[in-house]
Amino acid sequence: MGKNLNLDWARLGFTYMKTDFRYVSRWKDGKWDEGKLVEDNRLCISEASTVLHYGQACFEGLKAYRTKNGKIQLFRPDMNARRMQESCRRILMPEVPVERFIDACRQVVKANEDYVPPYGTGATLYLRPFMFGTGDTIGVAPAPEYIFSVFCLPVGAYFKGGLSPVNFTVSEYDRAAPFGTGAVKVGGNYAGSLLPHKLAVEKGFADCIYLDPATHTKIEEVGAANFFGITKDGKFVTPKSPSILPSVTRISLLQVARDVLGMETEERDVFIDRLDEFAEAGACGTAAVITPIGGIEYRGKLHVFYSETEVGPVTKKLYEVLTGIQFGDLEAPEGWIFEV
Ligand SMILES: *Cc1c(COP(=O)(O)O)cnc(C)c1O
Repeated sequence: MGKNLNLDWARLGFTYMKTDFRYVSRWKDGKWDEGKLVEDNRLCISEASTVLHYGQACFEGLKAYRTKNGKIQLFRPDMNARRMQESCRRILMPEVPVERFIDACRQVVKANEDYVPPYGTGATLYLRPFMFGTGDTIGVAPAPEYIFSVFCLPVGAYFKGGLSPVNFTVSEYDRAAPFGTGAVKVGGNYAGSLLPHKLAVEKGFADCIYLDPATHTKIEEVGAANFFGITKDGKFVTPKSPSILPSVTRISLLQVARDVLGMETEERDVFIDRLDEFAEAGACGTAAVITPIGGIEYRGKLHVFYSETEVGPVTKKLYEVLTGIQFGDLEAPEGWIFEV
């Protein structure tokens, strides 16, 4: 370990902190440059960049974990790399090859090694890869140039004193159109979520639940996380829809539920008026891994799942197994862990 950063690992939240190095690569004339680590956290771009006017941008989020023996590992960065390629294809941006994406992540983690929180604190190094269109264009058209960058920052364990449930309310807004951009991690989806999120928080909820945009009868997303429920007969259920963002955490939990916990799993419709089929429910995503859902408010009534104050046993087990794998305490399925 290099310099002494004097960071209070236990108190870290999810707030921006400028770390020492970031990776920046530029695309021009049909190809990517070499890409390099830089210290400056500012990017200088044309006022006519498509990202500023037409939202031609996408991002990813993944974490680096310090293991018990001091090593650093990434969790399924290849999944993020491929998902970013999907985002790029949808909004006509050039793709970054999977190997190059993973190499950029590795370089950024290595260069900022002192910021990777120690094992046992629950804190991790969050990586934010992103890409956007730049250059001089004024019409609605793909940009002539692109920037792909990866920066990182240490983030705290989402739940400090163990998993605790929170309540959600069902939004009247949609986050994505039926054949829109819901399945890709593009910037515009998140600008549109700011107001529904604010309204939910003002009503005293952690965030809002989005229903399917076509019929408003089925659960799609929980804020910027995927939904899962544990049925009363012990099945792991998660919604299936072309406008849901395919969460790496959800795909991993499906496998953990099936292969480690021996549960039956189903990807299918989850109707908002059939919540009583679930004994437990949760939201899943890289940031918190799992957020237990205490209750969901819909049409003025709060439906409580397991408890508003305590996490259910299956949700807890899923969380322990997945975080155990991520921190290297439990053996990972083939191909999930990439050493830095
Ligand atoms: C990023 C994201 C998720 C979670 O995906 P992970 O890969 O598990 O981090 C879920 N829903 C939305 C809308 C997202 O943007």
